Amino acid sequence: MTGPVCKRCLLMELDGEYFKSIYKYIDSLPPEQKAGPGTYSRRLDICRECGELKNGICAQCGCFAEVRAAKKLMACPIGLWGREEESTEKEVYHG
Ligand code: SF4
Repeated sequence: MTGPVCKRCLLMELDGEYFKSIYKYIDSLPPEQKAGPGTYSRRLDICRECGELKNGICAQCGCFAEVRAAKKLMACPIGLWGREEESTEKEVYHG
């Protein structure tokens, strides 16, 4: 990835090839390890407002924010969002 540092940008807003390969990885995670879509979206909303996010990478942990947010047992390293506990944050779908 080249070019200027983009603060508060996720990969989806940056380089197309990086975005594709990281999202392929996220898609391949076992369903039992994945955060629900609501949790994922809430987490990324917080990351987007965080000054630690640079070019899609969290400066606190070195992870791609989208990957960290996609895993239900992960948490923000500075406590801005927590683990998705099965009993409290399970997504409810109304079909
Ligand atoms: S994981 Fe936490 S510290 Fe890192 S970018 Fe997201 S909100 Fe900021």
